[in-house]
Amino acid sequence: MGIIEAVAGALTLLAYVLGWALLIVLAISIVVILISLLLLAYSFRTGHFLFPNLLVAGISFFESPLRAILRVLNVDDARMDLIAIRLKNRAMYPSFRKVPFERRAIFLPQCLRSTSCPAVLSPEGIKCRGCGACGISRAHEEAQRLGYMIFVVPGSSFIMRMIQKYRPDAIIGVGCTYEVRDGLDMMHRHRIPAIGVLLDRSGCVNTNVDWDRLFSVMNATGTQRAPDMDKYGLDSPEDLGGNYHPSR
Ligand code: SF4
Repeated sequence: MGIIEAVAGALTLLAYVLGWALLIVLAISIVVILISLLLLAYSFRTGHFLFPNLLVAGISFFESPLRAILRVLNVDDARMDLIAIRLKNRAMYPSFRKVPFERRAIFLPQCLRSTSCPAVLSPEGIKCRGCGACGISRAHEEAQRLGYMIFVVPGSSFIMRMIQKYRPDAIIGVGCTYEVRDGLDMMHRHRIPAIGVLLDRSGCVNTNVDWDRLFSVMNATGTQRAPDMDKYGLDSPEDLGGNYHPSR
């Protein structure tokens, strides 16, 4: 009888402690939600992104529960990815544009190359030969003009290797939704301001990106907002920039 009472007492205590722990987690979650919502509302109203790292952490924190809710509502996962990418881009953009060009790196996916690409693989990625059959040669020229580090990515581990080697202070990553989403999360974990630019046409070969939009992001500086940043919204087809035309 004594043992049963002791076990019952222990279980009651355990339930009591778990109940309190759950309440504390719930209270913390509500506080985090409220702070993040206030930050988001303030940032989007004023265009001043306070605590961008906290903002991105908040967006990441809500991503999984939001994704689950949206799935129940029959909303595509890709839609949620797109929203998360745009929010993270917006949150990181002010920090990104303060970084000098020569401390920024741009990573392009190799699927942007022409199928007749003569470039060869090197330890620094795929080395464009400037044949002009795809837009990468123009991106190289623009990167050289500004002083960017530029890489054509041959595989997923390559990006971290180059980041560890060259330690850039800001990143532009081009890719499909899935790659950009994971890339932004990875950069956030390393506290590097990163902007994701989505491909217009995804796939394994012959993909395409809006090069002018990309050049617009590349040219963004501490004093210059990307041209259509003000109208940039969740339903806009634009991510960042769009009106800038570099010298060709
Ligand atoms: S421009 Fe560069 S990357 Fe594009 S196809 Fe020519 S060599 Fe390859």
